[in-house]
Amino acid sequence: MRDRGLLIVLSGPSGVGKGTVRKALFSKEDVSLHYSISMTTRNPREGEVDGTDYFFKSREVFEQLIEEDKFIEWAEYVGNYYGTPVDYVEQCLAEGKDVFLEIEVQGAIQVKSKFPEGVFIFLMPPSLSELKNRITTRGTETEDLINNRMTVAKEEIEMMDAYDYVVENDQVDLACDRIKAIVQAEHCKRTRL
Ligand code: 5GP
Repeated sequence: MRDRGLLIVLSGPSGVGKGTVRKALFSKEDVSLHYSISMTTRNPREGEVDGTDYFFKSREVFEQLIEEDKFIEWAEYVGNYYGTPVDYVEQCLAEGKDVFLEIEVQGAIQVKSKFPEGVFIFLMPPSLSELKNRITTRGTETEDLINNRMTVAKEEIEMMDAYDYVVENDQVDLACDRIKAIVQAEHCKRTRL
């Protein structure tokens, strides 16, 4: 029996495929995780929906929410704010539901200091050249932004040792299977009468 839910944090460099892996994971019937929708000040990309992909907010509103301590963590990443609203996460955990965060590295380190019992998973690209390839073919960023994201990515990869698990994203389905296995193992580790 378990009282509180698990806090599962998937992190890793931008472009590694965190979003793709998360969506594939959530499409599986045998996965019962609760996704925490982040808040951001960046503009929506084509096809993104407010309240589904992100809660899109102005900088003024975001800064006000920082003041009011409404985030578990927040970070400024390539010129925009991103943050995890506290209420949804706390509510799920208290109800014994597992919550899943998909966030960048600075944020994951903040979450670790507040929730050391969380499960921290680093999604790793097969190589740096493959990472650049993925960011470029996504086609949503200018050349400057791509270079910016690659510089940040190299710094992020150096933080890998702070995580409990490293999962290579060589194939989305394999990465999902590894994450599912980690979640199951963490449940077994914590299950007590
Ligand atoms: P993108 O602009 O490509 O959607 O996201 C940029 C980066 O911000 C990605 O690495 C993504 O995982 C991360 N991110 C998304 N939501 C959050 C959040 O709530 N907090 C933090 N720290 N990073 C986030």
